[in-house]
Amino acid sequence: MSFLSETLARVKPSATIAISNKARELTAQGRDVIALSAGEPDFDTPQNIKDAAKRAIDAGKTKYTAVDGTPALKAAICAKFERENGLKYKPSQVTVGTGGKQILYNALMATMNPGDEVIIPAPYWVSYPDMVLLAGGTPVSVECPAQTGYKLTPEQLEAAITPKTKWFIFNSPSNPTGAGYTRAELKALTDVLMRHPHVWVMTDDMYEHLVFDDFEFVTPAQVEPGLYDRTLTCNGVSKAYAMTGWRIGYAAGPEELIKAMGKIQSQSTSNPSSISQEAATEALNGPQDYIVESRKVFQRRRDLVVKMLNEAPGVRCPVPEGAFYVYPTINDCIGKTSASGVKIENDEDFANALLEETGVAVVFGAAFGLSPAFRVSYATSDEILVDACTRIQNFCKGLK
Ligand code: PLP
Repeated sequence: MSFLSETLARVKPSATIAISNKARELTAQGRDVIALSAGEPDFDTPQNIKDAAKRAIDAGKTKYTAVDGTPALKAAICAKFERENGLKYKPSQVTVGTGGKQILYNALMATMNPGDEVIIPAPYWVSYPDMVLLAGGTPVSVECPAQTGYKLTPEQLEAAITPKTKWFIFNSPSNPTGAGYTRAELKALTDVLMRHPHVWVMTDDMYEHLVFDDFEFVTPAQVEPGLYDRTLTCNGVSKAYAMTGWRIGYAAGPEELIKAMGKIQSQSTSNPSSISQEAATEALNGPQDYIVESRKVFQRRRDLVVKMLNEAPGVRCPVPEGAFYVYPTINDCIGKTSASGVKIENDEDFANALLEETGVAVVFGAAFGLSPAFRVSYATSDEILVDACTRIQNFCKGLK
């Protein structure tokens, strides 16, 4: 019998982290590698936020804080929800954790019983199904192909709901596709949920600020106030303010759930870093210019990458509404053989051969639950993106 827990046997390590590690290894061996696999902005954290952290250290704010967030940060989060999403929450309805990841994990740990189902539209962020499994629940993934813009339809949602459904996880704009739901598309989904009062919504709004053209970001409790009492609205500062390393995520929802999530955190990590909380307070309360600037840059890069990938034979790349990912499909590449003789049977073969032969690291679609496709993170410079996309084009031209 293994010393390790049976629960662990049910989950996989994160594929995105595994590919980033492989890219790092190849770089260490001296290979010319371009990693388009990481999910973080390539910008530095804005200066006002870094200054707030330095002030916090100098002022001795270096001790334990309240387990689920300082009063100042909770006040800033309440103000943010009201200002940007039209949602009113009291501080007792807010929790702060070590990244959005811990928030989602706490919520699942606090609510899952064996047999409970969680609806997850695919392609999904890699951690959702494994977190559900770790918490003892059953992920129910629903495939949302490129033809429907990688978005769940109300019919699909209706069909996936059973008496055992506990949560519906919603993520717009999405990691890995960048797909964003319009107000009408989201309303069609919330209409379905209104007919099933036992289903709660966990909305992961991490990419809220990264939306392009004139796309309007909306969140479920805003579109359907009738869902307010069974919605956990999750967000964080990682992507919005280039603060991935600071590890601050937060959520707001019904008090009973928020308290239960705090209980899990009190027996695992306790409070997130006191200094990071001071920095996140400044991020939410301070000037918001960074958001506007980064959005412009990401939109330009999106357009560049979509155009170049669509010029690669066998690759079809839809135009996403937000985030910093594209998710091209590669149906016409499957069954072919690469220039160095590798048979491409699936998207994992495609990504491996691409990395081996051109040094470009992308994440294969199977990791996100929808194949054959791959995810490109375009959070890097235009120059690097042009180089990487040219290599992808040449790789695809070499497929016979
Ligand atoms: N949710 C989504 C959709 C993400 O892409 C990520 C990070 O990649 C997270 C949550 C977690 O973010 P963090 O833990 O850095 O706040």
